[in-house]
Amino acid sequence: MSSDRQLWVTLSTPDERSGYYVELSLDNKILFVLQAIIPACNRVFKTGNILTKRFSMIRDQETLNQLIDIVDRFVRERLMPIEQQVAENHEVPEEVIQEMKDLGLFGMTIPEEYGGLGLTMEEEIHVAMALGRTSPAFRSILGTNNGIGSAAVVFDGTEEQKQRFLPKYASGEWVGCFCLTEPDVGSDAGSLKATAVKDGDHYIINGTKRYITNGPVADTFNVMARTNPDIKGARGISAFIVEKGTPGITLGPVDKKMGQAGSLTCDVIFEDCRVPASNLIGKEGDGFITAMKVLDRGRLHIAGFSAGVAERLIDDALHYAIERKQFGKPIAEHQLIQAMLADSKTEAYAAKCMVLDAARKRDNGDNVSTESAACKLFATEMVGRVADRAVQIHGGAGYISEYAVERFYRDVRLFRLYEGTSQIQQIIIARNMIREAQ
Ligand SMILES: Cc1cc2nc3c(=O)[nH]c(=O)nc-3n(C[C@H](O)[C@H](O)[C@H](O)COP(=O)(O)OP(=O)(O)OC[C@H]3O[C@@H](n4cnc5c(N)ncnc54)[C@H](O)[C@@H]3O)c2cc1C
Repeated sequence: MSSDRQLWVTLSTPDERSGYYVELSLDNKILFVLQAIIPACNRVFKTGNILTKRFSMIRDQETLNQLIDIVDRFVRERLMPIEQQVAENHEVPEEVIQEMKDLGLFGMTIPEEYGGLGLTMEEEIHVAMALGRTSPAFRSILGTNNGIGSAAVVFDGTEEQKQRFLPKYASGEWVGCFCLTEPDVGSDAGSLKATAVKDGDHYIINGTKRYITNGPVADTFNVMARTNPDIKGARGISAFIVEKGTPGITLGPVDKKMGQAGSLTCDVIFEDCRVPASNLIGKEGDGFITAMKVLDRGRLHIAGFSAGVAERLIDDALHYAIERKQFGKPIAEHQLIQAMLADSKTEAYAAKCMVLDAARKRDNGDNVSTESAACKLFATEMVGRVADRAVQIHGGAGYISEYAVERFYRDVRLFRLYEGTSQIQQIIIARNMIREAQ
């Protein structure tokens, strides 16, 4: 699509000079946001006579296409060129994070009334697939604000909590994180040991949380802790939001990981950490239910993202296969290579279809616990197979870090582990099937 002209798009904020400077295509689609003055404002109106619709339009294909075009181009032109640099430095450059904020990417799932884009699940999946075409470390930076770090407040927070936290997540000013896992408690999250003891109008939190994504840079910690020690299982757990700077929080060293360099995790330790009772999310004892709602949504996001990563890996493998010659012809003409390409394409397409179907069902208000688990199980296992074939198609080059497939092969391994391992997804699916049949 060729570029026609550039346009200043104002935002409906009190400051009329705020806005985006965008490049438009011949048919008036936003090709790229060249400059953003006020970040993460969802209400976009034109100054001329071209854009008349809100940027965060739900179920408006044209507006969604514009957003995806912007993300596609941002991924291609800003993120893909620095993938290797991020992997080597273990850091996403600050100016790139700022650009993500300017594009509103930290607030994709935050409702519009709190400054986010208010994307539906289906829309979010399309954007996740677009983001999947580059290193997962970039998504991880904004992933918690759009998912596990904010969703508990979105779903079950009080109006006061929503007003206080959500606009800051949406703009990217604050980073949220989700603290469920502990040193002795992973898959069996209902048995967690961290405690929150009521003391007047405060709770005192004690416990260690492990592998917390964005913990090292978090401004708020969404913590699951046991408020009722008499109930050993899930019903004794409550959810809290704890602000950075609250006395009693210590961060462990940044974890050294197999992949996703640039995405940071660490232990978060709470020692006699006094949290106002007003920071309880939902009702006492409902914290595990909140956490499961958060993960149900997160699983669909990870599945959609995995489908996007698979497309990237297929592209890389296909182009390599077309260029690389052995036995006098491009390896793409060898049928065993074609089989790997075809299997990867087929599986990625299946994942994309199933996750979009589940997302639509969720948007329609259906309970998609089974579908979310099925999507995460299939899509994350699928992208593991696709990454493996991409390395195989690259031959020895696939084992050399100069080629992106080597890095992606390690990066995608995580998807089968966090937000519930593949085995836990199988258990959820089977348990739901049996319950429905009884
Ligand atoms: C990089 C990274 C980022 C993470 N980010 C976060 C975060 O932000 N917040 C957070 O709270 N957690 C986070 N986690 C933790 C992650 O969610 C857990 O690691 C995951 O849920 C698995 O728990 P575990 O590691 O304790 O494994 P375990 O539960 O000890 O499982 C070990 C193995 O046993 C299997 N297993 C366990 N129970 C069963 C069963 N009943 N039947 C069959 N098999 C079983 C598992 O599938 C797995 O294969 C992160 C982890 C990593 C590595």
